[in-house]
Amino acid sequence: MSPAKILLVEDEPNVAQFIQLELRHEGYEVTVAADGEQALALFHQTDWSLILLDWMLPKLDGLEVCRRIRRTSEVPIILLTARDYIGDKIAGLDTGADDYITKPFEIEELLARVRTNIRRNHREMNRSSTDVLQVEDLVIDIRKRQVTRAEERIELTQREFELLHFLMQHQGEVISRERLLSAVWGYDFAGETNVVDVYIRYLRNKVDRKHIPKLIHTIRGVGYVIRSG
Ligand code: CA
Repeated sequence: MSPAKILLVEDEPNVAQFIQLELRHEGYEVTVAADGEQALALFHQTDWSLILLDWMLPKLDGLEVCRRIRRTSEVPIILLTARDYIGDKIAGLDTGADDYITKPFEIEELLARVRTNIRRNHREMNRSSTDVLQVEDLVIDIRKRQVTRAEERIELTQREFELLHFLMQHQGEVISRERLLSAVWGYDFAGETNVVDVYIRYLRNKVDRKHIPKLIHTIRGVGYVIRSG
């Protein structure tokens, strides 16, 4: 298998060089972009395995770069942010980033996140099942990545889709926030399970709001379950 190609978008030369060296040491091919416009130009040149994207950038900021990439691509994106507010993190995830890392970070943590996100992406691309899961009139087609309720198409972000997929694979089973985090976000987001609540809210808006019966249920103090009643 050819080495995974990573686009590193970071305007601070020292930080960029440090991360680049570490990633190369792990066997990745790394290209550096120093601002948002250059990032988009490079993004369109080839297929990337992963994008490491600094939030605060000249020309276009990381969130805007992320939004534009998401119009055409589901490449894993990890946001690097010096801001340490959960609101910002959720804003970042909401633009379609798969993950974020708060600066300053331990390089081991960054490498672990890179591995996890690339692995998850490979798993998704290799998944060739024709699985269709259903609860009441909610149907999820894993292979086509399509969701319908009462035969009406529902558009979900990648993360919303993965969350719904996991719940539907375990329909009728109450799943804790921690388990959803590790299954859907892929690692231990210790203490930040409110990200799950936010995404459950997004899902409910899209899946349940206009329909009866409600399918996504909160089990107070435990977690969530998807079931018909
Ligand atoms: Ca920066």
